[in-house]
Amino acid sequence: MNDFFKGVRRHIDKLDADHLREQYARLSEEAISLDTLFQTLAQGIVVVDENGAVLKSNPAARELLGMNPAEALPSLAIPLGKSSKREILVTYPVERTLEVQTVPMPAGSLVYLRDITAEKQRTQEELRAGATQAVRDLAAGVAHEIGNPLNALALNLQLLQRTYKDEEGLGECLSQVKRLDGILKGFLQALRPSKPNLTVGSVAQPVKDCLATLKAQFEERRIRVGLNLPGALPPVAIDKDQIQQVLFNLIKNALEAMKDGGSLELDIGSDDNDIILKITDDGLGMAPDQVAHLFEPYRTTKSHGTGLGLMITARIIHDHGGTIDVESQVGEGTTFTVRLPRLERRTRALN
Ligand code: ADP
Ligand code: MG
Repeated sequence: MNDFFKGVRRHIDKLDADHLREQYARLSEEAISLDTLFQTLAQGIVVVDENGAVLKSNPAARELLGMNPAEALPSLAIPLGKSSKREILVTYPVERTLEVQTVPMPAGSLVYLRDITAEKQRTQEELRAGATQAVRDLAAGVAHEIGNPLNALALNLQLLQRTYKDEEGLGECLSQVKRLDGILKGFLQALRPSKPNLTVGSVAQPVKDCLATLKAQFEERRIRVGLNLPGALPPVAIDKDQIQQVLFNLIKNALEAMKDGGSLELDIGSDDNDIILKITDDGLGMAPDQVAHLFEPYRTTKSHGTGLGLMITARIIHDHGGTIDVESQVGEGTTFTVRLPRLERRTRALN
């Protein structure tokens, strides 16, 4: 169709009145059928200009958001000029989960809204019962097998420490082995369909632990790390091992996206509802079609990747009643935003 319009534009000076009338009629028919499609689609569509102002929206968008999109959009904080995908919870007129996807266009963005409430429930059930179970069992089996020699290593290192008390190297070895063991435990916990073992605390410790675990890799890969971690964060109910696993997966992906060094920003904060963890890298970034399929299992672009990391990450966060969003641009970088409900808000959390 684009070619057709381009053709008409090129020859417009040569067209006589009859031809112009004919083309106008064809154009208006096209516009009417596109408008009918726009008006009747079950998917919500909002067109915004480069400043984020709403130019056009369809009835499905109004229905899904439960209000005028021009009023609802500012609170969705649509990233302009970037592809993104996120989930939001709307509570009016009925409680449901929406997937909000943005696609940049030359003079603004398209915002797609899709009701994924039923899909999410189905996915949860399928995850529990379906083919993924086999992969989980396999991975859990391998992790378990690695756990045994690790325990033996830890035990023997402890025995050695008794004889060679002040050997610094031994202490370091032991702490690395313990970290490995912790990572494995987190992995196993994430794979098992069990609910997280929640305790009340701060996300500060898992953040610090995770950065300490990866310190050597940051240096090796020449990654600058910026950390904004306020001293007093509101408490959350979290499974510390699982949240550490989440951070580990996200930071590892960020590292792997920054092939020739780069900078990693961790911004931890909170608003009235949530604790917010932002992880930003200035690595490869992702194209819109890749963002669209993110969090699905086995989607990897790495020769040694599993494509399971983000699926496990999303599952842990959902089990915590939280959400995970992504914003990305090829060649610019990626930001993952994890939201965990503040303790006093858990009663309103997603399940
Ligand atoms: P894996 O790391 O084993 O490939 P993941 O589920 O962790 O599996 O990630 C899936 C894919 O998502 C990756 O292969 C990569 O293409 C993409 N990805 C994830 N995080 C980032 C990031 N920070 N920057 C660029 N691409 C990413
Ligand atoms: Mg990964």
